[in-house]
Amino acid sequence: MRVGVVRLKLPALDRRARGTDFLESPTRALLNPPESTGMPFWSLNPYVGCEFACSYCYARYAHRYALDRAGDDDGIPAATAARLRALPQPWESFERVILVKRREDAVAALDRDLRRVQVRARAAPQTLAIGTATDPYQPAERRYGLTRLVLERLVRERALGIEIVTKSPLVQRDVSLLLALQQRHHVAVHISLISVDPMLVRRFERRSPLPRVRLRALQRLCAAGVNAGLICAPVLPGITDTATSLRALFRAAQRCGARHVHGHPLRVYAAVREPLLPVVDRYSPRLAARYRAVYRRGAHVPAPYRRALSRRLRRMAAEVRLPIYEPPTDPAARRDLQAQLQLWQPRA
Ligand code: SF4
Repeated sequence: MRVGVVRLKLPALDRRARGTDFLESPTRALLNPPESTGMPFWSLNPYVGCEFACSYCYARYAHRYALDRAGDDDGIPAATAARLRALPQPWESFERVILVKRREDAVAALDRDLRRVQVRARAAPQTLAIGTATDPYQPAERRYGLTRLVLERLVRERALGIEIVTKSPLVQRDVSLLLALQQRHHVAVHISLISVDPMLVRRFERRSPLPRVRLRALQRLCAAGVNAGLICAPVLPGITDTATSLRALFRAAQRCGARHVHGHPLRVYAAVREPLLPVVDRYSPRLAARYRAVYRRGAHVPAPYRRALSRRLRRMAAEVRLPIYEPPTDPAARRDLQAQLQLWQPRA
């Protein structure tokens, strides 16, 4: 990275036997404001890069820029730079080099950012989404604990919306913290799973936790009284969008005690094409040809498909009597939900 005219190398924190490098990265801001992302919430991603290595992950795009900002080969340790150059595909850097925000920077940045959030909260309810680009409970969290650090700081705030998306069972570690947050905020944890079929999941997600492990985590969160549900994102057209696949997924969620379900169709940005399309090719060359044709026009599925999928998701959710998740934006609705959850929490 550049500091004035001097280039500093990002300190190497660790290297895994399987070949992932962890670098400490300085940070000035932790929360991305709604106006910088175009989304109606503040977003927060403690780590840059993700070892779960899903082929459809759209955050690969941002990772390239994050490494560029770190100063190309000059800003990262020579050994890491050499390994990056040796990667068969440049996009693999996303899962091979994880930037870990420096702890003291993260604390100071969060204090600053939360002041801005609370100023806006006087005019309208504010929501923080944790894990919009990379998984906040990916393996790095076990060692560096940045997500936990953020949650511990948020316990001192009040009346925010806090949404957490993860594929990792590590979220169970923070059950008591999540329950404490639920007393002060509207909290929703979304366990992300595309299918109950482990073979199918492994085709598209190289190192993510298996479905049964994620479902067990969902079950434990719900049993403890955390407001948790299942998100099927992305729904892969022609692969996981069938009524059979979605029904199995939503039924599994219902058996775990999920409080809600929802899902979103696949987006294929330019940076996703290279890792994803060969995987779809191996799954079905005919389908891959359709993907190439449909996503050549843009990253999004056509509107008629989106509407049909939304109807199917609603039908499947209704079958298992679970609501489709809608974040409550009205402060009174948030308070009602908080009160309901408190009544519902098991007593020791
Ligand atoms: S878990 Fe999420 S952030 Fe990590 S690779 Fe998969 S889609 Fe990307």
